[in-house]
Amino acid sequence: MAVRTGSEYIERLRASAPTVIVEGETVTVGIPDHPAFRNVVATYAELFDMQHDAALRDVLTDPSPVTGEPVATSFMVPRTRDDLDKRGRAMKTWADHSFGMLGRTGDYLNSCLMALSEAEGWFAQADPAFGENIRRYYEMARDQDLLSTHTLVPPQANRSQSAGQQLGGALAARIVKETDNGVVVRGARLLATIGPTADELLVFPSTVLKGTLDDAPYSFAFAIPCDTPGLRFVCREPMDRGRSHFDHPLASRFEEMDAVVVFDDVHVPYERCFLLGHPELCNTFYTETTAVAHMTHQVARRTTAKTEFMLGLITCLTEAIGIGKFQHVQQDVAEAIVALEIMRALVRAAEVDAAPNRFGVMTPKWEPLNAARNWYPKLYQRFPEILRKLSASGLMALPTEADVVGPARADVEAFLQSATLNGPERTRLFRLVWDTCISSFAGRQALYEYYFFGDPVRMAGALADSYDKEPFAERIRQFLSSPGALPGR
Ligand SMILES: Cc1cc2nc3c(=O)[nH]c(=O)nc-3n(C[C@H](O)[C@H](O)[C@H](O)COP(=O)(O)OP(=O)(O)OC[C@H]3O[C@@H](n4cnc5c(N)ncnc54)[C@H](O)[C@@H]3O)c2cc1C
Repeated sequence: MAVRTGSEYIERLRASAPTVIVEGETVTVGIPDHPAFRNVVATYAELFDMQHDAALRDVLTDPSPVTGEPVATSFMVPRTRDDLDKRGRAMKTWADHSFGMLGRTGDYLNSCLMALSEAEGWFAQADPAFGENIRRYYEMARDQDLLSTHTLVPPQANRSQSAGQQLGGALAARIVKETDNGVVVRGARLLATIGPTADELLVFPSTVLKGTLDDAPYSFAFAIPCDTPGLRFVCREPMDRGRSHFDHPLASRFEEMDAVVVFDDVHVPYERCFLLGHPELCNTFYTETTAVAHMTHQVARRTTAKTEFMLGLITCLTEAIGIGKFQHVQQDVAEAIVALEIMRALVRAAEVDAAPNRFGVMTPKWEPLNAARNWYPKLYQRFPEILRKLSASGLMALPTEADVVGPARADVEAFLQSATLNGPERTRLFRLVWDTCISSFAGRQALYEYYFFGDPVRMAGALADSYDKEPFAERIRQFLSSPGALPGR
């Protein structure tokens, strides 16, 4: 099979039967038609369709190494810097389609699966079957152009206890039984973004395991279809309330659902297991395989697209109300420009300084990407802040589409015009600003970026511990021990 079209993605989703609980309703059929999901499903379908667009397919697809049919570029194994460059351009092309607002486009986890599959020998050290399983799974996902999400984190009941200690071990997803042909998993994980609208759920390691016997049931990596019996998605309140593109320009297109994942004695066949009971391997899963570098490459390309959107929006806003020449406003614009250029530079450095990993996969340089993923969670918070500050009461003088075409039309035209836009145009622009900086969609985006790669506090700790600081410290030591560095010498 080759890359899917949007309607093929929707048809498969319609034929599946996941258990999804949303706003008091249990939905098992018709996910693509449900009001909580239909708009984001339509946007994801557009992404699949882009792979068939004559103007885009050369960058978004690559010939399958097996059949020669086009498969998604994000599944392509990069061997050269040109391959990596193509992967990066494909990521950016998709990210631009949602201004970087969609965090779980397929390329994120396709990149992960590509790297894991190439590291099959690393999995084989636990069991040769695991190496074969990850390779076969990747090939299936590639050839069927499947959309995956992942779930990593145990429930938040008590973070001062390990997963195994919580509720006597009855809370976090764990292996409770082995059968003739697989394992049975019980408990919960949070969260899975797009769980209800994805094809596959990757249940991968995340939190650091201590490696004691107690941790063994929590040490695993496997993948299951999202409609596997016993699997439930408990959704948060939808932020797409079915309003028009005019009223909720972002939420009505890009609202990816987040859901708690409940495993109610889910049977996972052995062929879908990639690690079982190896805490020490789970702890190095992403780094040893270099999957983290390929995933972060996609994220850095996406967040660059998002930063471009922010700069464009800030510019339109300042032009609209004639504040672009005030110095403090220019300072904010300059901050966004600097942020964009630093993001671009980090991505470029990672791509230009790429080198083959030990499995022969051309891998972007980790240090610039690690800097980007440590920086962006905090950086992103500034954009909504800047937009709120520059928009001021404009974010509240904000009628809806029904008002603009209805009883308030004359008032909108008379009083809500701006320096460069008429009343309805200005309202449309400010509704986009509102959905970027103040709506529930905007709040969720800020939280998402902050926690995208896990807790930024612990991520910073890992960076500080792992970065090679020694050459710089040594220079200081030499300087301090040079003649004259101490009093009287
Ligand atoms: C919008 C959104 C979508 C998400 N989508 C997904 C998804 O698709 N798949 C997925 O797997 N996950 C997803 N997540 C979860 C994400 O990975 C976590 O939010 C992140 O790893 C942080 O974990 P936590 O939320 O449990 O926070 P916690 O770990 O509970 O942290 C809460 C607070 O306590 C502090 N804290 C807790 N423990 C420690 C400690 N040991 N040391 C220091 N400080 C500590 C933290 O700094 C933080 O301030 C999503 C999260 C959000 C917000």
